[in-house]
Amino acid sequence: MNILILGSGGREHALAWAVKQNPKTDRLIVAPGNAGIARVADCADIDILDGSAVVSFCVENAIDFVIIGPEAPLAAGVADATRAAGLLTFGPSAEAARLEASKAFTKEVCDACAAPTAAYARFTESAPARAHVQAQGAPIVVKADGLAAGKGVIVAMSVDEALAAIDDMFGGEFGAAGAEVVIEDFMAGEEASFFILTDGVNALPIGTAQDHKRVGEGDTGPNTGGMGAYSPAPVLTPALQQQAMEQIVLPTIREMARRGTPYQGVLYAGLMIDQGQCRLVEYNARFGDPETQVLMMRLGAQALDLLLACAEGRLDQSRVTWAEDHALTVVMAADGYPGAYTKGSAIRGLEALPETSSQMVFHAGTASRDGQILANGGRVLNVTARGASLAEAQTRAYAMVDAIDWPEGFCRRDIGWRAL
Ligand code: ATP
Repeated sequence: MNILILGSGGREHALAWAVKQNPKTDRLIVAPGNAGIARVADCADIDILDGSAVVSFCVENAIDFVIIGPEAPLAAGVADATRAAGLLTFGPSAEAARLEASKAFTKEVCDACAAPTAAYARFTESAPARAHVQAQGAPIVVKADGLAAGKGVIVAMSVDEALAAIDDMFGGEFGAAGAEVVIEDFMAGEEASFFILTDGVNALPIGTAQDHKRVGEGDTGPNTGGMGAYSPAPVLTPALQQQAMEQIVLPTIREMARRGTPYQGVLYAGLMIDQGQCRLVEYNARFGDPETQVLMMRLGAQALDLLLACAEGRLDQSRVTWAEDHALTVVMAADGYPGAYTKGSAIRGLEALPETSSQMVFHAGTASRDGQILANGGRVLNVTARGASLAEAQTRAYAMVDAIDWPEGFCRRDIGWRAL
């Protein structure tokens, strides 16, 4: 079959890499793709936020299956457009993707299905929001309702910090995303990610992971899109996964169906684990980046069969074949990230690294010019390895990092520390 993947990051490289291994795949196109993706797929330059442009491209290229990577096209209704055109599609409708695109909506759904999460209040004006923070005290969490590229959440350790966040949000710092503000109780604990495929009725867990949001070793410094990840996350024990399914995930799926907006795609639950219980921090309506890189390395070619079963509504007949393995990915970023960084520095040594089912360098932000791979983003490479143990996966991943010659890049040297 002919498959189109939308997106251009390490997540899409990992998806393409897994899909490509499946014998069902004839032609694979990624739009817009990047220099690494171009090694496993054709890349096409289309506006992935424009549903009708995506549909036209699919018709012209006889695409049988569309896989939507990032949240922006989901929120823009691209899955609605492709489904309306009769194209088999992996990814939720815009209405269902509100589980990621609106924090207030997620809270409403949690209320309706009694899913455990932090207590909260919603505000559209500054004065009552400020009064709420003053009454509650700190720590407290202030969130812009809409999508803000991971920057719209302030975990405030003092009342002053929370008040400043409220002023920023209502002052327009996040545009329309900050027109409504959700203020939540602070949850202590350890965070982990749980990934579940759902066709709207059936649900199939496809793995756990933990990422590393801070730029510095020991989880210090500013937040980033993620500096590394590993799977499985031992903190999410089988008992906790079962609890999360029964109390959070399945009730959410049923509530979305009850509303007439069934959720189809991957549901990425960010969970906070404390004292043997988990609570929902957030949902994302797409695969995580860089968590997908480790999930795909563990799932391999079967990933396509699972995504197809999800899109075709037959997940009840699917199961995951697990190996007793671990995968770990190290993000290499351009110096300065997550602040200002420069693009265009040359990365050498990649061609000497063998690409196998147990080790891959996924490209997150690269371009190629005159046969050279150049940095073309903040997060640039995802150096990913699999092993019989997490320690082995970590050793292999850092051995690859050390073989890459890129003086203008850096990485954290402690990815995996929580589980090791
Ligand atoms: P992402 O970058 O993952 O998309 P986001 O902008 O969607 O983030 P959330 O995931 O809701 O926002 O929050 C970001 C981070 O803030 C969480 O990963 C968690 O560390 C912290 N956080 C959010 N809500 C709470 C809470 N109620 N208590 C403690 N920490 C929280």
